Amino acid sequence: MSEHRTGAPGRVKEVTSLANPLVKDIKALALKKFRDQQNAFMAEGLKLVIDALDLGWTIKTLIFAKSALGNQAVEKVAARTVALGGDVLEVSEKVLTAITRRDNPQAVVGVFTQRFVPLKDIRPHSNDVWVALDRVRDPGNLGTVIRTVDAVGAKGVILVGETTDPFSLETVRATMGSIFAVPVAKTTPEGFLAWRKDFPGTVAGTHLKGAVDYRSVDFGNRPVLLMMGNEQQGLPDNLANGCDKLLRIPQAGRADSLNLAVATGVMLFEIRRNALKL
Ligand code: SAM
Repeated sequence: MSEHRTGAPGRVKEVTSLANPLVKDIKALALKKFRDQQNAFMAEGLKLVIDALDLGWTIKTLIFAKSALGNQAVEKVAARTVALGGDVLEVSEKVLTAITRRDNPQAVVGVFTQRFVPLKDIRPHSNDVWVALDRVRDPGNLGTVIRTVDAVGAKGVILVGETTDPFSLETVRATMGSIFAVPVAKTTPEGFLAWRKDFPGTVAGTHLKGAVDYRSVDFGNRPVLLMMGNEQQGLPDNLANGCDKLLRIPQAGRADSLNLAVATGVMLFEIRRNALKL
C-alpha cells in the first residue's frame, strides 16, 4: 500500500492487494452481520455518492478505480471525502470487482454509515404518505418500493417484523439512489401496532380478500399509511385488523396477485394522484 497525492487535496491510499485489511473490511460488507458490526453499507456510482454527500450522509470510505485518476468530478468527491474525515482508496479493477462482486464494476464506490429513523420520530401531518411493509423478503422489491416512494413524493418506509436489509448491496442497487432520500424505520409488529394507534389519518391495508376497490376510496387531505403484506403470506390477521380499510386492486387475468412492489406502485400513484403534476 502506498500513499500519494492526487490533484485533490488530502491523502489517498493506493491499494492493489485483495489481502489488504481495508479491502477485507469493505468486502465483508456483503454480509449483513458485518454491515451491522461496522454500521456501514456500500453504494456504487459517482452520482449516487455525490447525492449522498449533498444529502448529508456520512461517508466512511471512498473507493475509486485507478482508471478514474484525473477525472475532475472523482477528484472533487475525493477531496470532499477527506475534508469530511473519510478515507480515500485508489484501487485496481481487480479489487473493485471483488468489493462489488461484479464484472465491469462502477469506477466509484462509497461506504456510508447506516441510518434508520426512529419510529417515535415519525409524526405524520397534512397529506403525508408513509408505506409500511410487513416482513418484506426480496431485496429487489424493497429497493423498488423505496425508489417508488421517492418518485411519488411519499415520506418514507416502515419495515415491520423480520425483513430483508435495506442496506444490502442488492437493495441499495434497486433503489437507484433513493436510499439516500427516503427515511426508513424498522420495528416489530407490536411496536408498529402501538405507534399506529396515534396515526392521525387513514391506515389503508391491501389484501387479496379486501372488500373495497382501491379506486373507490377518497384519500382526502389527510395522512395515509399504506400497509403492504409479505410476498408469500400477505398481511397476517393482527396487522390486517389494525387497518382502517382493506383494499383490493381488481384483476382480470389468471394471476392470483400482483408482485409486492408493483402493487405498492399502483396504490401510491392512486393515493398521490392529486400531488403528481407533469
Ligand atoms: N399469497 C399472498 C397472499 O395471499 O396475500 C400474495 C401476496 S402479494 C404477492 C404481496 C402483497 O401485495 C399483498 O400482501 C398485498 O399487500 C399486495 N397485493 C398484491 N396484489 C394485490 C391485489 N390484487 N390487491 C390488493 N393487494 C395486493
